[in-house]
Amino acid sequence: MRNLLVAGNWKMNTDSAGAAQLATEVANGFKPDSTVEMAIFPPYPYISIVASVATGTALQYGAQDLNEHESGAHTGEICASMLVNMGCSMVLVGHSERRAMYGDSNERVACKFIAAQAAGLTPVLCVGETLEQRENNETEAVISRQLDAVLSRTGIQAFANAVLAYEPVWAIGTGKTASPEQAQQIHAFMRDKLAALDGIIAGQLRILYGGSVKGSNAAELFAQADIDGGLIGGASLTSDAFLAIYNAVA
Ligand code: PEP
Repeated sequence: MRNLLVAGNWKMNTDSAGAAQLATEVANGFKPDSTVEMAIFPPYPYISIVASVATGTALQYGAQDLNEHESGAHTGEICASMLVNMGCSMVLVGHSERRAMYGDSNERVACKFIAAQAAGLTPVLCVGETLEQRENNETEAVISRQLDAVLSRTGIQAFANAVLAYEPVWAIGTGKTASPEQAQQIHAFMRDKLAALDGIIAGQLRILYGGSVKGSNAAELFAQADIDGGLIGGASLTSDAFLAIYNAVA
């Protein structure tokens, strides 16, 4: 049994007052009898604000990235233990914007995944293909490489405490959503690949879909057999839009 997870990636948005308000409105949106979980990923400076709102509620929170080193001379970087110190339970690794713009190679993403777990955080490993890769029929090969970079260093056991997110790059922030069938096909591909290594871990792993999810398409996407919720960018920036997604499935 996998609880759905509706996760909001605020990216480089909000200010301190907006973060407090948005987190408060989201935390107040939980339905008491629902098993659907919600998590938010604010910018680093607002994690403590979100922490003060979320503590004592069901709202989970984490960071959008971390540095792979434990501590030391890495000016401007944030390590896993700092996130744990701020009460984070999760962290995104390998978001396509970090892969495309900030040097997160498959290998570096694997190191971040390992660093997150070593500190007790649940990594949310983001994978996905570009439009060009999809058009060249490389989607499964690209995703396999992204997964194998982590698997080859951690083994399948590490996926017992992780979340996967399939985010086709061509659907992020573009308004283009993968159809439920397109998304389900890739989610099933990933789960089958992991199940070949350990069926129980693969069966328990949550695989989120990300890419222009909104209240109007969430129910159909999340009803697919291997889609266990969503990683939401644009629609996580207002409580109305974010809770519309939660309410569509909760
Ligand atoms: C994302 O960046 O993770 C994302 C899915 O963004 P959007 O929902 O805006 O497409």
